[in-house]
Amino acid sequence: MGYDVIVVGARVAGAATALLLARQGLRVLAVDRATFPSDTLSSHQIQPPGVARLARWGLLDRLGDAPATPRVLFDSPAAVLDGAFPSGGAIHSPRRTVLDHALVQAAREAGAEVRERWRVEELVWERGAVAGIRGSSGGRQLLTERAPLVVGADGKRSFVAQAVGARAYRQRAPRSFASYTYWAGLPVTAGELHQRDGLAVAVFPTNRDLTMVYMSAPLAGFDAFRADAETGYLAALDRCGGDLGARVRAATRAERLRTTPDLPNHFREAHGPGWCLAGDAGVTMDPVSAQGIANALRDAEGLAGAVTAGLGGTRPLDAALAAHRRERDRALRPMYDFTLGLAMYHSGPVERLFMRALAERGEPAEVERMFGAFAGMTPVDEFFSARTALRLAAARLADGVNARLCTAPLAR
Ligand SMILES: Cc1cc2nc3c(=O)[nH]c(=O)nc-3n(C[C@H](O)[C@H](O)[C@H](O)COP(=O)(O)OP(=O)(O)OC[C@H]3O[C@@H](n4cnc5c(N)ncnc54)[C@H](O)[C@@H]3O)c2cc1C
Repeated sequence: MGYDVIVVGARVAGAATALLLARQGLRVLAVDRATFPSDTLSSHQIQPPGVARLARWGLLDRLGDAPATPRVLFDSPAAVLDGAFPSGGAIHSPRRTVLDHALVQAAREAGAEVRERWRVEELVWERGAVAGIRGSSGGRQLLTERAPLVVGADGKRSFVAQAVGARAYRQRAPRSFASYTYWAGLPVTAGELHQRDGLAVAVFPTNRDLTMVYMSAPLAGFDAFRADAETGYLAALDRCGGDLGARVRAATRAERLRTTPDLPNHFREAHGPGWCLAGDAGVTMDPVSAQGIANALRDAEGLAGAVTAGLGGTRPLDAALAAHRRERDRALRPMYDFTLGLAMYHSGPVERLFMRALAERGEPAEVERMFGAFAGMTPVDEFFSARTALRLAAARLADGVNARLCTAPLAR
């Protein structure tokens, strides 16, 4: 059978791309060296824009029993903020075993062929363009599959990106390591984000009544941490507010601790003759801001639109992919820069000022705006801007004037 598109990698970016292309009637083959359902080294907070996409694609009810978290408690030395996301948005945190499998199943239902335990080892080239893949499915014999377009959705260490020599840009060395696991008997009423100097911690409920507790810290501390990861992990939680350390110690650890220092940051050139990249293969950012899954779903949607237009003849494929790449970079750049800042693990005076101003105002709509920016619902650089600072300062001034008017003795 001939295919219109081959997708390498079938987790969030790959399975979503395959699903959307198949729904447009394209003949799609997706391959992954993994089998599904399976876990991958990743926590799994899906930001509200990603959740909205899953809802639009009719997949929200396939995420099992992971509760939605519409409220967040943000705890930093400058301020403690408790609030909701704008427009009733919520973070969902299904395990990757659940989410990735749901996407693979949906892609199959849409007509895509998904082959598991299929490792791509070479790309097929014809007249200077990628024309297919060569790989194996457990056996020694190499199999060849052909298509006019190969999508590399094969993660941050993308084989496809390396094989085509996709140029990396805005690349920054890893700044963090991360460590997380799952706890039984640790109920939470909201998601929790804790920030301390040299530390970030996230707490979110997930499937099977478990709560994921994730910490990350500067990479420089990784060697010392891994010498006794369990002690280091709990000591980190002890530094957070709200007795987090004590609450976790009173709970039961349900799974092993997963720890990684492999957290690169880069954009890659997104397309070339016969190939394009999706998800982490194209843009990878430190998970401290938990954007990768929502980014991958967003990328899948944009890419599928460009490919459908390009292969359907409504627009030259190259121009459609170039427009998609420009839009991807425009949309992700502010959050990428913000994420690199978070991965310094030290909030600057401006951020502290913002947090204090928000806490002092106690205005839920402003806190919502900030959570919306953290979640990628509104551009983060628009929130942390001189304009917001002025708005907060003006509101503070008005509060002060009102308070003085209210307490001033009435003139007779
Ligand atoms: C510790 C950690 C915590 C994170 N936490 C969050 C979070 O809370 N929220 C969030 O949004 N993001 C988080 N992320 C980021 C998130 O994991 C990624 O952004 C997301 O997985 C990207 O999806 P993807 O489909 O592009 O790539 P991947 O999920 O990496 O999938 C790539 C797939 O390609 C397959 N593949 C690779 N090479 C080949 C080959 N040669 N042949 C066949 N198949 C191949 C792999 O088997 C894999 O299944 C975290 C990441 C890490 C490391």
